[in-house]
Amino acid sequence: MLYAIRNESKIRATPNQKANCIGCNGIVNSFCGEIYNWHWKHDKKDNCDDWFEPETEWHLNWKQLFDKENTEVKISYEKKWHIADIYTNSKVVIELQYSSIDKRVIQTREDFYGEKMFWILNSKRMNIEPLNLDAYSVHSPLVFTTYFDTKVFVRPVWIADFWEFEPTEKLKEILEKNDFIYNTILKKYVKVSSYQTLRKWGYEDDIKKEVKREIILFARKIMKENPRLKKFSLWRPQKTWSDSKRNIFIDNSYSRILWIKSFENDRYGIVEEVDKQKFINKYVNAQ
Ligand SMILES: [Zn+2]
Repeated sequence: MLYAIRNESKIRATPNQKANCIGCNGIVNSFCGEIYNWHWKHDKKDNCDDWFEPETEWHLNWKQLFDKENTEVKISYEKKWHIADIYTNSKVVIELQYSSIDKRVIQTREDFYGEKMFWILNSKRMNIEPLNLDAYSVHSPLVFTTYFDTKVFVRPVWIADFWEFEPTEKLKEILEKNDFIYNTILKKYVKVSSYQTLRKWGYEDDIKKEVKREIILFARKIMKENPRLKKFSLWRPQKTWSDSKRNIFIDNSYSRILWIKSFENDRYGIVEEVDKQKFINKYVNAQ
């Protein structure tokens, strides 16, 4: 922890000191090395906040951006308490997550902190490589493309997904001409594959060039109107975070943060690139 309590005030660690934990009031010792940010640590962490994860430099660096009053804040609710990593002046809880976490724990935390909370994940937990919307692929589930799916229906199908964007009349016309039908449950265009087998490769001839071309043109139009939107797909399904009900921001330690705007099927979705400095300013100075 960056802070501990002494004489009822929050203090930073200095060499060879003891103080009390913000959460459980137990004794914490200062750790003041040459490399890492100076911080406090319990002798044993067992009877403290069970949501506490071993802190990394990444945690401490994020916390240091915020004022003392907004960092490591004990939040109590119905006899339970937890230490929020960051609690802004506008009462938003920001939880920093570096290590793996169980799906149920995510839900419990979201329920405890309520709707005014969001996550910042270290990119080690979800490494998203954003692609331009017009990057076309038939081999992986992506928005603004047509991908092969064998799970949604009994027969293999092609799915064209335009996220929340309404295709142009011309694109709709071309899709319908090529046997794509709008599925009101999936809210996507679906075409039954002419192939019965489950093999996914080599079936591009099922999708006519004019379909691809029109989808790319439509993606470019959307990209022009929304320059910060990107699409992504993951190599492995990301089951842990896909059910989260809060906003998720991924910090890859560069100048941009990726805000997950949609997350379909544990596998793919849309992110918005957010300028990290603007993001920090917004929450550090939030009134
Ligand atoms: Zn404690």
